Amino acid sequence: MRNQLQEQHRLSVLSLLGVVSVLGITPFAYLRYLQDNITAAIIDLVLVLGIITLVGYAIRTKKTRVVSGIVALFINGGVIAIVVVNGIDSFLWVYPVIASTFFMVKPIEALSINAVLMVVCLFLPDVFDVIPLNSFVITMLMVSLTTFVYANRSEKQFHLLEIMNTVDALTGALNRRALSSDIAEALSISERKATPYMLALLDLDHFKVVNDKYGHDVGDQVLQNLVTITTANIREYDRFYRFGGEEFVLLIPEIKDPQAFINNLRIAIKKELKTPDGKEVTVSYGITAWVPGTTADSWLKSADEALYQAKANGRDCVIFSDE
Ligand code: GH3
Ligand code: MG
Ligand code: MG
Repeated sequence: MRNQLQEQHRLSVLSLLGVVSVLGITPFAYLRYLQDNITAAIIDLVLVLGIITLVGYAIRTKKTRVVSGIVALFINGGVIAIVVVNGIDSFLWVYPVIASTFFMVKPIEALSINAVLMVVCLFLPDVFDVIPLNSFVITMLMVSLTTFVYANRSEKQFHLLEIMNTVDALTGALNRRALSSDIAEALSISERKATPYMLALLDLDHFKVVNDKYGHDVGDQVLQNLVTITTANIREYDRFYRFGGEEFVLLIPEIKDPQAFINNLRIAIKKELKTPDGKEVTVSYGITAWVPGTTADSWLKSADEALYQAKANGRDCVIFSDE
């Protein structure tokens, strides 16, 4: 789920770049051809076709990060080629390339690519007979550094937005939005793997009593502690979500012994999750393995039925759905 927003953003920037490059560079390719400058026309054409191909590949495969990096290097290489061939006539293209590099790769990477581009520009023949070298260096640094500051801020905001979009504010567990997206992924992975995902529904036992007896703030603290304890007792690839209220979901990929795993978790929570006066707070578990034909709804429903059974069996226990 993480980084989906940024990936969508990168994809739209790439698509926009595709459109802008077709509209902006194609007329120049034609113009160069009319001027009999065939080399420059070919470079322009290669740039347009290359960008369209790469953007099309990114849209199809969703590999936006790697494709954006290739596009950034490609257009920087392209602008050097066109300035070497065309000299001062094409030199102003350096500026949009400097700025757009920041839309495609991480700010620090863009700054490094810009630095290389700037150094290469310094060695271009003839250009600095026409424009003053110091003006070039200063304007280049201004465009590059201001765009760097803006891109850096924007990256931090994206990160924050990503967290707000996927993390439950009270407990720090992943939220329900993240769950919907990750369940879809788990369903598709389970179809291809020999050991399928398991989905566990966790519900705190008699939690209303905790709230009634100790107050809502203590209840909140218990929910936070549950997340801390659970996170410390699951594996790196297991994911823990707040489903709502005092119900949580655990998505467990490829596990050899789910009984032992979930029972160890139950024992750890029972041992560590306490009210302020030291009374244990327990959890009931309903757990279901993926089977062919499982949908998001049927998976949750089946785990919920197992959880209901766990409550009926006296709570503080694990029930595996037998489907
Ligand atoms: P059971 O063992 O059958 O699950 O009993 P229970 O009391 O846990 O279940 P019930 O559904 O009756 O009560 C759930 C309680 O969880 C009621 C509600 O006030 C409390 N709750 C839900 N969300 C929050 C929250 O964000 N903070 C706090 N403090 N309490 C919450
Ligand atoms: Mg409960
Ligand atoms: Mg409940």
